[in-house]
Amino acid sequence: MAQHTSLRQLLERAAQRGIDYRETSPDRAVAPSAVAIANVDGFLEPMPEESVADIAVLEQLDEIGTPATVTMTGPRYFGFVIGGSLPVTVASNWLATAWDQNVGMHEVTPATATLERVAMNWMIELFGLPEETSAAFVTGATIANFASLAAARNRVYRDVGWNVEADGLIGAPPVTILVGNEVHPTVIKGLGMLGFGRERVQRLEVDGQGRIDPTRLPKVDGPTIVCTQAGNLNTGAFDPVGDICEAVKPRGAWVHVDGAFGLWAAASPDREHLCSGFQAADSWATDAHKWLNVPYDSGVAFVRDGAALKAAMSITADYLMTDSDFRNPSDYTPELSRRARGVDVWAALKSLGKSGVAEMIDRCCSNARRFAAGLEAAGYPVLNDVVLNQVMVSFGDDARTRRIIDAIQEDGTCWCGVTVWQGQTAMRISVSNWSTTPSDVDQSLDAIIRIANSEVVNERQ
Ligand SMILES: *Cc1c(COP(=O)(O)O)cnc(C)c1O
Repeated sequence: MAQHTSLRQLLERAAQRGIDYRETSPDRAVAPSAVAIANVDGFLEPMPEESVADIAVLEQLDEIGTPATVTMTGPRYFGFVIGGSLPVTVASNWLATAWDQNVGMHEVTPATATLERVAMNWMIELFGLPEETSAAFVTGATIANFASLAAARNRVYRDVGWNVEADGLIGAPPVTILVGNEVHPTVIKGLGMLGFGRERVQRLEVDGQGRIDPTRLPKVDGPTIVCTQAGNLNTGAFDPVGDICEAVKPRGAWVHVDGAFGLWAAASPDREHLCSGFQAADSWATDAHKWLNVPYDSGVAFVRDGAALKAAMSITADYLMTDSDFRNPSDYTPELSRRARGVDVWAALKSLGKSGVAEMIDRCCSNARRFAAGLEAAGYPVLNDVVLNQVMVSFGDDARTRRIIDAIQEDGTCWCGVTVWQGQTAMRISVSNWSTTPSDVDQSLDAIIRIANSEVVNERQ
């Protein structure tokens, strides 16, 4: 029988180790060492025949796992679009994990279901979405896109007298689906999962920043879904959603906005112009684990026609309290059982307040501009209009740009990823972490420019 550690000792030890990790995050190399990565093989062992002491399990997790993490939560991680996690949200997450609530039904989880309802209403207000909007707390923007598009599917079919939930897609009338050429691949995946097909979409040409040109929209007729984007993952650019809504909504089309990080611009008075007219759309997908800086995983789908979302997602069973007077969260999500991830959203919004959210968004944007200015001054061209938190830079030809990105990642001062923008290889910097300071930007710029310059010198020798 494994040695017994008290619950208190075990959880306190975990908390201490978590606190150590967070306190040292700003100074850790962002990328793990080769030795630490090799040591991960220590996890590759046969499943134990007998039980192992809890404390030993935790120790192995920390000793092998911690050094091999990429410090995504630190202030100099600029890869993909990755937020950190506000300390209050790590704390709320720990407490809510201890509660271990299954937030599917209100009556059995009144505290967490209420917190999620509050968080939902606060976000609807923060983004200026229509009052009647309903929301679903999901794992991320991928499933937020999926859930939104499931509601869209329900509504556009209902409009032509077809009950897609009951009768499915076999023999159903066709639906026109328009997407920008820079659509995020998760939207395409969502369409595929909904039976619309990943390739049966009409792709619209975009401009040099990745935006749909609303004057070149085809004339829509019959059931139609238009997928737009707030915040291109490379450029940060916004589709002119207001203009698109004006063009297609009078003809009955459903307009969806993938705003995984860009929707948060609506929370900043300095940047809400980027989202002007967005409120006319029908559904909006966003992430909380990106720019709101809550722990993974956390995304939200907002749907104006809550009945359409509910029709697509709800189930009934005698043992479930599905005819409750309360708003059952599981009526709106693909999942029945799930963790109460909305609690962390609530904690972030409560702790920051409206001004704090705006300030966090603005701070990231101004740090992105600082990156762009520093790179330009060093002679490296920035490829996008830096309207938000994304910066793309080229160090010359594709091969050299890739080599320099590899060297920057290995150096460990900061971490930036590679992308290909309209045919050109580039490095992508995404400033999404609440804790990044101008001095983190300067420290990262020093490393990036030093590495890039020395690579250019090496080539000349
Ligand atoms: C990140 C992102 C997604 C996918 O979000 P996940 O949280 O990874 O599921 C979708 N669209 C855009 C624009 C994104 O930036």
